This record gives sequence, C-alpha cells and structure tokens, in this order.
Amino acid sequence: MELTNLKVINEVLSKNGFSFKKSLGQNFLINPSVCPKMAENALGDADYALEIGPGIGVLTAELAKRSKKTLAIELDERLKPVLSETLAEYENVEVIFGDAMELDLNKIISEHFPEDAKIAVCANLPYYITSPLIMRILESRLPITSLTVMVQKEVAQRMCAGVGNRQAGAVTVSVNYYCEPKYLFSVSKGSFTPAPNVDSAVMSLKIRKEPPVKVLDEKFFFKLIKAAFAQRRKTLLNSVSSGLSIPKERIKEAISACGLKDDTRAEMLSIEQVAELANCLLEHNI
Ligand code: SAM
Repeated sequence: MELTNLKVINEVLSKNGFSFKKSLGQNFLINPSVCPKMAENALGDADYALEIGPGIGVLTAELAKRSKKTLAIELDERLKPVLSETLAEYENVEVIFGDAMELDLNKIISEHFPEDAKIAVCANLPYYITSPLIMRILESRLPITSLTVMVQKEVAQRMCAGVGNRQAGAVTVSVNYYCEPKYLFSVSKGSFTPAPNVDSAVMSLKIRKEPPVKVLDEKFFFKLIKAAFAQRRKTLLNSVSSGLSIPKERIKEAISACGLKDDTRAEMLSIEQVAELANCLLEHNI
C-alpha cells in the first residue's frame, strides 16, 4: 500500500470514518523520502524497533521492512481498523493501544522483545508532548540504542545546540546527560497532511553507556539545571538563588568555589561545570 499517497490515505481514512484530531498532534507524513531515511538511521545499529504514534502506519511499514520486529504504541483506538488494513502485509508488526506518557515502557519492552534485543525508538512524535515524552523515555532508562525522532524544528535545534552554546536551554543539558544528540535533516510543513503550522526536523539521540559527568544526586542535578535556565537573561547567581530559594551569598560561595564569575550565565556553562556546581552545592550543604 502506498501510504504517502494522498488519494490512498483519504480513501482508507474515510472508509473507516476517521477524522484528524489536532489535539492528538495528528499530522501524517506524505513526503515519501522521509520515513525510509528515518528507519534506516534508526536501524543502523539495532534490529528491533519501537514506534510511538504510528498514525496510519507510514513509518511503521518502513521499520517493519528493516527490523526483526516493530512494536508500535498508538493512543487513538479509532486507528485500529485502519492499521489492520494498512499493515496487513507485515507479520513482524504489533500495535498496542495506550498512552505512551502513561504506559510502563520498560514492562512493555520486556514483554514484547527478546532479552538481548537491540531496540531503536523511531517516531514522528505528537508535538503536544515532544519534550516530556523524550525526557520520559530517557529517564526511564529503557534498554534502547537510540531515538530517531521527528520533532518541531526549534526543539531539534535546541536539543542539538550543544551545551555551552547561546541556543542551549535546560533541555539541551538534560538530553546531553543521557545521550549524544545529532540534527539529521529538516522537514517542511508541506510534507504532512494536514500541514502543521511549524517546520519539523529529524534528530538522532544515541544513548550513552555512561553519563559524561559524575553527579552526587541526579535529582538535584536536574533541579539545578531547571533553576539555572529558568530565567535566561539573569545571571546564574540570581536564577539559581531564586529558583532554589537559597540565599544569594551561599550560591555566590559555591559559584566562586567552582572557579566561576558572578556574572556567569547558565548558557555559558559546560555540562562538567553544571555537574561541579551541583556537587559543590551538595557537598557544602548549601
Ligand atoms: N507516524 C505517523 C506519521 O508519521 O504519519 C503519525 C505521526 S502523528 C505526528 C502522531 C501520532 O501519535 C498520531 O497517530 C497520534 O494519534 C499519536 N499519539 C498522540 N498522542 C499519543 C500518546 N500519548 N501516546 C501514543 N500515541 C499518541
């Protein structure tokens, strides 16, 4: 089935009485060059695929062609009859219906893939939950090799900006703790039906075997990142002090103990410096 052909898409959707729900981020890919490239990148060093939000199965089919098994998680049960039809020719595909933000993904992986499977996450993510879903997957420490995902262009640019770069935000540092992000290619609005309001991009997040820095308390490390980047125009001193409700004098002490100046801003820090500051604040009981 030619799942990027608008005529085919409209036929199969209208036959099943399906109408797009904007609230679920339902923009389906119709650009035929995108899904094969995503699937190839995802399955370069993996042989099993986990997809979030298959829609009508356009990416699922490309993953199925290149994997031993592809498991897709879709929230919208109205797509059940559609997917049974569009993916009928692939025996190595399974679709589960549920909310990827709620389901126990570790349990699902252990139930649906062999123990030693090399699994890649590949998805055109629903845009209303892009960052929380990526962070949920990373924080759950799923046994996966990488994520190859389509997100809003600005999100990809920010996540792939590199720590210590002007464009970096809290999400840049957080993502870099778990993986190595790489911007792969941009995708225009016209590559979807219906066309979204924003451009998109595909990025690859390769999971690190070990985090690049040692932190004494991960929870506190992420709390510090959030506070440090919450007010981007302010100095690190001011944003951390107000974000963590700690008197300025004590933050000043820790900042200078780490060899940083008072006017340093969060975006100027390397991940090592963020980790050092977090450890220093904890060690000095600040
Ligand atoms: N993969 C298809 C494509 O590329 O054409 C569809 C991508 S569309 C951007 C996002 C898909 O995610 C939709 O099918 C939507 O119903 C589904 N979705 C939205 N929220 C979800 C959630 N919380 N859990 C699982 N799937 C979800």
